Amino acid sequence: MSKITVFCPATIANVSCGFDVLGLALDSVGDLMTVRKSTEKGIRITKIVGQELPLETEKNVAGIAGNALLEQSGYQGGFEIEIDKRIKPGSGIGSSAASSAGAVWAMNELLDRPFSKLELVQFAMQGENLASGTAHADNVAPAIFGGFTLVRSYNPLDIVPLPTPSELVATVIHPQIEIKTSDSRKILKTTISLKKGIEQWGNVGGLIAGLFKSDYELIGRSLEDHIVEPIRSILIPLFGNVKFNALEAGALGCGISGSGPSIFALSKGMETAERVAQSMKETYTGIGIPFDVHVSRINTEGIKQIG
Ligand code: ADP
Repeated sequence: MSKITVFCPATIANVSCGFDVLGLALDSVGDLMTVRKSTEKGIRITKIVGQELPLETEKNVAGIAGNALLEQSGYQGGFEIEIDKRIKPGSGIGSSAASSAGAVWAMNELLDRPFSKLELVQFAMQGENLASGTAHADNVAPAIFGGFTLVRSYNPLDIVPLPTPSELVATVIHPQIEIKTSDSRKILKTTISLKKGIEQWGNVGGLIAGLFKSDYELIGRSLEDHIVEPIRSILIPLFGNVKFNALEAGALGCGISGSGPSIFALSKGMETAERVAQSMKETYTGIGIPFDVHVSRINTEGIKQIG
């Protein structure tokens, strides 16, 4: 095989209580990427459609992540990458992660899979470092493993894939305002009280137990964040209204997707998720901020070959 086209899913990082450690992959939102083997050394990004992004290898996360893999692979040739960018950069649903993870996943297939999924996450994290200044794994891990993932430890990197209850559906609203990931990190405090710590690890444990037991009520009770959400939500217009209305419409829980501005909700069943989408649209209509709304099942496969 000398050419592959892959679907690279959008991802929701943090999932309320799991700042920097939990993430999930979406099914119906994502980029397409075509990667070709070439005899010329190095990575070249030959085409990007959909969004204005740099073609220079060292400025594009796909190039950085791809180079990290290439250096370790011993392969003497190189790769050409085409990106069909459907996830808007800076949306908070893992636009950069889709490209970082998609590039290394596709290259690994073309080289007959010399690397494990964990190693692919490590290469993709180099791309995340370029996008946000931190080599976080909570978007690239679910993109590569699929479903929900837990980053149990960063040093050494330890990723735990988690089960996905079959009726869980995500609704996401992306208000088109710019929040720089670096800014939304800067405003966070670096210490927390023991009381908040206790609440938070209770919820992380509860959410993971809920996923294992397919206990939707427990999942809903655990989708709480008393540490990051109260601070970051200040940057997102009408966050409180969106959340209140989503819960009224039947969502199990609602929070900030990644570093925002996207807001996500999880629901049991497609019908409720659609009702939540409607409530989000109504909340944002007429306030002068353009927005997109997505309803998606959880993608348990992660990145997949489509051509
Ligand atoms: P998101 O908030 O959706 O996760 P990020 O903030 O992680 O998006 O990444 C967006 C940043 O990464 C932008 O500054 C963008 O220019 C840069 N970037 C570089 N290459 C890519 C790429 N292939 N896809 C998306 N963003 C990229």
